[in-house]
Amino acid sequence: MVVSSLGIVVIGSLNMDMVVRTGRAPGPGETLFGQSFSLSPGGKGANQAAAAARLGGEVTMIGRVGQDGFGNEMREIMRQEQVNIEHISVSKGEATGVASIVLEEDGENRIIVVPGANIELTAADIEALGDVIRQAEIVVLQLEMDMAMSERAAAIAYAHGIPVILNPAPAQALSDELLSHVTYLTPNETEAGVLSGVAVDSVDTAGEAARLLLAKGVQNVIVTLGSKGALIVNEAGTEHVPGFPVQAVDTVAAGDSFNGALALQVTRGAALAEAVSFANAVGALAVGKPGAIPSLPRLAEVEKFLQ
Ligand code: ADP
Repeated sequence: MVVSSLGIVVIGSLNMDMVVRTGRAPGPGETLFGQSFSLSPGGKGANQAAAAARLGGEVTMIGRVGQDGFGNEMREIMRQEQVNIEHISVSKGEATGVASIVLEEDGENRIIVVPGANIELTAADIEALGDVIRQAEIVVLQLEMDMAMSERAAAIAYAHGIPVILNPAPAQALSDELLSHVTYLTPNETEAGVLSGVAVDSVDTAGEAARLLLAKGVQNVIVTLGSKGALIVNEAGTEHVPGFPVQAVDTVAAGDSFNGALALQVTRGAALAEAVSFANAVGALAVGKPGAIPSLPRLAEVEKFLQ
């Protein structure tokens, strides 16, 4: 049987972000009047899928939403973003995932995620979707889903020689087996610290952490460093790829836009340092605008920025 490629397959969360803007976050027991409230589509999986699609990638998403208004809206939004939603299933019992986001005036954010239907997607479900994974050019994972499911997805991709990007966010410990199936691990500084046990607060300590993760079988570690860009560590050595300094308006989805862009560039055959530089530009553009999916740049915008 001839199977056509499904392009970038993102297996991850779809959440409705409920965003409150406020001068400052309240302390314990304190009630404040906020400045505004908005609903915004998000979830690391949805953000990364939309990021790659907006840049011109062919993207298929595997995930689960609830049988509710937010779920219908998330599926419709992803469809409008030109993402293949055929494998976003609907839970009978769980609500669509939500993220409660408090944005302070200084750009700082505080986020509580309630995964709901997202974590109902099990290892058995992903096993049943093995054919979809086998048709991927690259598989993109994050950690807002059931860990056993993510481990199974990475193992299936690895067994078929399909590269895997794992964005280890939010930060949590990972099994050595999962790490050994990862082609590109993309922690930010906090996540690199949690995964390695090294306190990461500089390019040097990021390198130290990344080398420990490389020793666990990851092929390439790419530590994102906010405005400083990213550090690539692999068998060939260590390379710092500088970022594009911009005025940060809202750092939500910086890492997600970076990962979507990286996936696209890798599947287009770009050298890794080039792919990371492009992803830095996409991340910089995303922090210059408010929101998660609404802040993601399109290809023309990135090309203009890089001129
Ligand atoms: P996360 O959003 O996961 O915490 P980072 O803060 O490291 O991750 O941001 C991811 C990427 O977004 C960075 O590697 C960089 O390319 C870009 N980026 C983030 N913040 C800025 C900034 N203030 N200026 C320019 N680029 C940024």
